[in-house]
Amino acid sequence: MEDEMEEAMDKEWRDLSEDILSGMKEWRLAHPKATFREIEQETSEQMSRLQARIVRDVAIASPSTDWRSLPQEERPTCPNCAKALTPRGKRKRRLQGNGGREVELNRSYGTCPSCGMGLFPPG
Ligand SMILES: [Zn+2]
Repeated sequence: MEDEMEEAMDKEWRDLSEDILSGMKEWRLAHPKATFREIEQETSEQMSRLQARIVRDVAIASPSTDWRSLPQEERPTCPNCAKALTPRGKRKRRLQGNGGREVELNRSYGTCPSCGMGLFPPG
């Protein structure tokens, strides 16, 4: 199951990398007089697509995205009261990735039983 997911991620990353590489070659042909700065800018824009994708996939696959099964003392705590958060299931969270690209993640969300503050624990 995990291997299958890894394989699927691997293939998608490779496909996207190839896409970006051939896109860069095409861009180079279409912009033969591009300056170093322009090439740099285009490359980093293209690479940010791959980066956003990898960050999203890795974050989704990370076990820390689901801490509901953790014992109370290992759960994330409220930054104000240091109380273990009450899990409230998963919610969509939009993060700003590199290059201003938005990444949408399904992350565990919790509220503090003491002050009621809701947050997405880091991880
Ligand atoms: Zn609190």
